[in-house]
Amino acid sequence: MKIKEVISHLERKFPLYWQEEYDNCGVQCGDKEQEITGALVCFNFSEKAIEEAIANNTNLIISHHPLIFKGLQKIEPTFPTGRMIFKAIQHKLVLYSMHTNIDNGIEGGNWLFAKKLGLKEIKVLAPKEALFRKLVFYAPNGEEVPIIDALFAAGCGAIGNYINCSFRTEGKGTFQPLTSANPFIGQADVTEMVDEVRVEMIFPKAIQQKVIKTLYCHHPYEEPAFDIFALENSISQIGLGSIGILPQPMRAEDFFSVMKQELNLQYFRVSGKIDRTIQKVAVCGGSGSSFIRMAFAAGADIFITGDVKYHDFFSVDNQMIIADIGHFEGESFIKEIIYNELKENFSNFATIILEGEKSGIILV
Ligand SMILES: [Zn+2]
Repeated sequence: MKIKEVISHLERKFPLYWQEEYDNCGVQCGDKEQEITGALVCFNFSEKAIEEAIANNTNLIISHHPLIFKGLQKIEPTFPTGRMIFKAIQHKLVLYSMHTNIDNGIEGGNWLFAKKLGLKEIKVLAPKEALFRKLVFYAPNGEEVPIIDALFAAGCGAIGNYINCSFRTEGKGTFQPLTSANPFIGQADVTEMVDEVRVEMIFPKAIQQKVIKTLYCHHPYEEPAFDIFALENSISQIGLGSIGILPQPMRAEDFFSVMKQELNLQYFRVSGKIDRTIQKVAVCGGSGSSFIRMAFAAGADIFITGDVKYHDFFSVDNQMIIADIGHFEGESFIKEIIYNELKENFSNFATIILEGEKSGIILV
C-alpha cells in the first residue's frame, strides 16, 4: 500500500480545505508515492520523532503541528527545522501534518475536547463561512453526464453526509460561431439554438482551479459557458472551537476538578467570578483567545483555551470564566484521533504513538 492511499483516507475524513487560510496542513516533505512501512503519530515534529521513526522502520510521520509553517528560507542541518528535513529526506520519510483541518473537523480535536469534559449537544463555536462556491455550467442535452461525473470525482457536489449533489434544468442555448471558431455544434456565421442542460453544484473554494480545469477537459464545447458564485453559507459542522452543555449544572470548583482529571492538568489560570454554577461550556484547543467574545456571546459560563494574554482575561468584564489550560494541554489528545483512525482502518502496517511528548514548560 502506498503512503498516498493512507493520506487519501485521512483527507476524506479531515479534508485539507477545512484548514484555516494561514495554515500549512498536508505533506511537509517526502514522496507519498512510496510503499508504507509504518506510521508514527506525534504532536510536534522533533528530532526524537524522526529517530523513533527510523528505529521502528516507519516511513510516515504524522504530526499535529506543521513543520513548515512560516517562510522557510534555507534547509541546512545547522538549525532544527533544516536538520529534521535533511534527515527525513535522507531516510526517505514522509512528514505529514493534520493541524487546523483536524481542529475544525467533525469528530476532530475540539469535538474530542468537549467530549472529554462530558459535554452534550456539542456544536461548533465558530462555524466556517464562505467555504464553498457554486458552479453553474451549460452543456448540450445528452452530453452532460460525463462532465458531471468528472466534476463529482474532482470533489464537486459534496454536502455534509451526501455526495454527487447537483441540480439540472433543461433549456435552450444560443450561440453563433465566428469564422475562426472550431465548433462542436453548428457552423460559422449561423446562429444556433441548441437544447442544453444547466447544471448547478457546489464545491470547496480551495479546489476552484481543479474544478475549472476538469470542466474544460471534459466539456465538448470549445468555449464552455460557466459561472462561479461566491456563497455566504456557513457550515455548521466545520469550524474552530466547540460549545456544549453539562448534563447537570455544576459548581465551578467541582468542574475545575473534572477539567484537571480529564485533561491531565497540573494547574491552570482562570479569571472571572469563580463562585458560580456552570452549565454551558465553550472550548478551543491551542491558542483560542480570539474566540473569547464569541464564547461569551453564545452564553458560555466558562471558556477553556490556551495562550491567553493578560488583558484578554478581562475582555468580557469577568462575566464569564476564562480558563487558560495551556496550548499543549488542549490539543495533545488529537494524537488519539489520528492513531485510532489508522488502527481501525489499516491492519497491513503498524501505527505507533510517540510517547513522552510534554508541553515543554517546566514548573519551578
Ligand atoms: Zn496548536
